[in-house]
Amino acid sequence: MKSAFQIVDEVRRGATTAAAELATCLDAVRARNEELNVFLYVDEEGAAAAASRVDGILASGGDGGALAGVPIAIKDNMCQRGIPTTCSSKILEGWRPPYNATVLDRLLAAGAVPVGKTNLDEFAMGSSTENSAFGPTRNPLDPSRVPGGSSGGSAAAVAAGMTPLALGSDTGGSIRQPAALCGLVGVKPTYGLVSRYGLIAFASSLDQIGPFAKTVRDAAMLLEVIAGHDPMDSTSLPEQSPSLVAHVGDGVAGKRVGVVRELIEGADQDVVDAVDRATRVLADAGATLVELSIPELRLGLSAYYLIAPAEASSNLARYDGVRFGLRVNAEDVSAMNEATRTAGFGAEVKRRIMLGTYALSAGYYDAYYGQALKVRTQMIDAFRRAYREVDLLIGATAPSVAFEFGSKTSNPMSMYLSDVFTIPTNLAGEAALSVPFGTGEAGLPVGVQLLGPGRSEGLLLAGARVLEIADGRP
Ligand code: GLN
Repeated sequence: MKSAFQIVDEVRRGATTAAAELATCLDAVRARNEELNVFLYVDEEGAAAAASRVDGILASGGDGGALAGVPIAIKDNMCQRGIPTTCSSKILEGWRPPYNATVLDRLLAAGAVPVGKTNLDEFAMGSSTENSAFGPTRNPLDPSRVPGGSSGGSAAAVAAGMTPLALGSDTGGSIRQPAALCGLVGVKPTYGLVSRYGLIAFASSLDQIGPFAKTVRDAAMLLEVIAGHDPMDSTSLPEQSPSLVAHVGDGVAGKRVGVVRELIEGADQDVVDAVDRATRVLADAGATLVELSIPELRLGLSAYYLIAPAEASSNLARYDGVRFGLRVNAEDVSAMNEATRTAGFGAEVKRRIMLGTYALSAGYYDAYYGQALKVRTQMIDAFRRAYREVDLLIGATAPSVAFEFGSKTSNPMSMYLSDVFTIPTNLAGEAALSVPFGTGEAGLPVGVQLLGPGRSEGLLLAGARVLEIADGRP
């Protein structure tokens, strides 16, 4: 499959058309969607209209945009006007949003061609896409294994060569972990860098939209298009989109890289080896290595599983059978609410709502939610101290390569541990990415995580590019 960079170049030169690229993409979707369960909805009509608009603009001498003619897959927790948006939940059955998420409008303005909505863990709660009400997505690299989650469908779309780009959302690792398991670049941008207007909320103080791509440059192209201030999102950072593509080749010479013990401990040996090799590559490229321990990171998972469910229990209160999607009729309103929520939510969502409601309840609030907020503040301080010493951090993205279906479903704790290395960044509101580096067990890809302070995406992408080249993808 062509890269996004190549498609934009060829479309602009007239060597191909947006319509032709869309046709290639739809063929790839038809070839494997039934097997892999990647797309919940393919918007052939809307995609054809977007492609023909781009071709029309180019034919009349226009520019076409930074993503002219590039097909893109959208995680099904982002609103697209008139298109079913399910969050992979039965509770949103039949609901079609009356507006576009800001990221959708930005993509269309940049000439991208959204082709459809991808599968996810219900309401983005999970790490394997096994929690979808519409069945799991399979990993295109080994269909007996999970693609990761919760943005498993978006990762699989790119890994299967259906689209060169996809959008995911990352609340505790849901872009970086599936990127690692599918051999892709995935970026969790700084909190507030990308507008969340039209992203269906899971945990609002943690959620961020970000890109999946096969190459670092493609990820930078997509992030540049979706980043930048949006008055419709009150948490949006004030500045315009940073220049990223231009700095992808900047390298890491003279940068200080923190090698963090807590971001690797407990990982499988193949993952540890890959991170070691990646660290040496950065040193060979002129970076200075600093061994670091940030013990606060060990508390991340515990704090996250209080804060995220607390916010989710509040955000998901709106699905009451009155305003959106599913309604199960009953004798009075409160019985209708209960019957609708009982039928509409899956087991993991119910577990999170109960955890969150408990953590917020009078008498337990200080001991659980309040305590978790204090831990979160300590973690923010700890990261800040680290970034006074170093420019970026390196660690593992996930503790293992892609795992087998069912291997973690009976024990929620083992599933939660998939995100032990990714969650701290979300709690701190900072930036991190995963870049494929080498292979591990069964020849499956390993993801290396680079982390930096807020607004460090340019540096992280430059570091990822150094690793990409060293890994044989020039
Ligand atoms: N796997 C984590 C969870 O289940 C993170 C999910 C996410 O980032 N959306 O909450």
